[in-house]
Parts: sequence; structure tokens; C-alpha cells
Amino acid sequence: MNPERLLSSIRVVLCRPSHPGNIGAAARAMKTMGLSELYLVAPKHFPAAEADARAAGADDLLRRAVVVEALDAALAGCVFALALSARRRDLGPPSALPRESVARLLAEAEQGPVALVFGNETTGLDNDEVSRCQALTAIPADPAFSSLNLGSAVQLLCYECRMTAFAGQQPADWTATPSASPLATAEENEALLAHLQTVMTATGFYNPAQPGRLLPRLRRLFNRARLERSEINILRGILAATEKGTGHGRGNDK
Ligand code: SAH
Repeated sequence: MNPERLLSSIRVVLCRPSHPGNIGAAARAMKTMGLSELYLVAPKHFPAAEADARAAGADDLLRRAVVVEALDAALAGCVFALALSARRRDLGPPSALPRESVARLLAEAEQGPVALVFGNETTGLDNDEVSRCQALTAIPADPAFSSLNLGSAVQLLCYECRMTAFAGQQPADWTATPSASPLATAEENEALLAHLQTVMTATGFYNPAQPGRLLPRLRRLFNRARLERSEINILRGILAATEKGTGHGRGNDK
């Protein structure tokens, strides 16, 4: 299944949310990551102006949100549900870290709709709600302060879903921005350094009798920059003009 379709088969279920602002924040978190199916189980206030305000443009998800009375109705048709809770449960479903759990969620999503199930801001998910889910995940956090804001927890899970859904399709190599011109070869880099050395010597900046670490440092700089051929040509053009200006240049007789 393509990543967009996979993401659209994930429901985000908020159980008994008390603060409409968190519903809006959850909608925004979902929309930024390409999820769209929001289910609200017995929300305290909904629809609400504060939800619209916090959705900040994701209000289409709020309009489409499915409001139900119990978790069972929100999970109707689902083949797999993942409960989100900072607390471990006796007799609870197997638990794993968010990344592993999301990998499982997406694998299951190939078979049918799946759900991420979040709890109430104050009381979290109750045992009955957790028991409706096939797996549990806790977001790693400081044990002394492990409860995230509901909207933040939704954001984090939606982000993991997107990363996993698009794994291998995102531009893997950030350095691979298209070059305007081919990368310079080893010889071209060496020729630049030699040219630079000549001009630095002629201008008195570099004393071959006391080389210090200037050349290794310049070499390191160019290796880090990975110069393109056209950039080498610019730098060598500047050097040639400098040689001409100082009267030391090979181009001086032109
Ligand atoms: N006081 C509640 C936490 C409520 S936070 C409790 O003790 O459970 C609201 C919801 O955000 C939680 O029900 C859970 O679904 C999600 N959440 C917040 N922090 C989380 C964490 N560290 N790991 C997993 N889910 C978390």
C-alpha cells in the first residue's frame, strides 16, 4: 500500500477528552503528518471554539471527526488497536517502544483499519479501554515526570507513523542536493591548492620555509566543502586576477 493510503487507514481515537483545546491540537498534529481519521469517544465539550482555534487550519478534520459514546464503536471495523499509556498494566497487552509498535501498526494496516488509542488528560486510559487493544506503548520519558500533554503524545505517534510509512522514500541523503556542476576531481582540488600556494607565497601570506599547518587546514576545509568544478574555476579565477594585480602572475604577460 502506498504511504499516503497507509496513513489514511490509521484512526486516532481520543477517549473522553476533557479539554477541547487538546482535540484541536490532536487534529493539527494529525494533519501535519498526513493522518485524517479522528474519532472522539464521549468528549466533554465538542464541537468547541477552542478546538477550532487550536486546530489552526486542520478544522476539516474536526468537521469530519466521528463522535461515539464508547470505545467499541470507535474501533468498529478495526483489525488492530494500539493503546497509549505511560503506565504498565497487570494483565495488559504486550508492550513495546513507540517505533516498534508503530512498525507493527503499519504492518497490520495492510489488512484493514487500525487505531491509536489515547486516554483522558487526568485519568489516562482505564483498564477496560486498554483491554480492547492488542498492544500497548509507552513513550519513553523521565520516570519522575512521564505524562505528556495529550496533543504532544498524538504528535509524537503520528510522526513515528509518517517516518515509518515513508521509510526508504524520504530523501535519505541530506548532502545529495543536486549540484549545479559536477564535483571537482582530486586533480582539480590539488591544482587549486597548488595555485593557492603560489599566490599565498607571492603575496607573503605563506612562507614555504615555515609552512605551519596552513596547507593541511586548507585541504581539510576543501574536503569538507566538497567543491564543484565551477566553484574551483571561480576560486582559480580570483587567484589569477590577484596574480595579475600583484604583477606576479603567469597571466601578467597576456
Ligand atoms: N495522568 C494520565 C496521563 C494522561 S495524559 C495517566 O496517568 O495515564 C493523556 C494521554 O496521553 C494518556 O492517556 C496517553 O494516551 C497519552 N500519553 C501521555 N504521556 C504518555 C506517555 N509517556 N506514554 C504513552 N502515552 C502517553
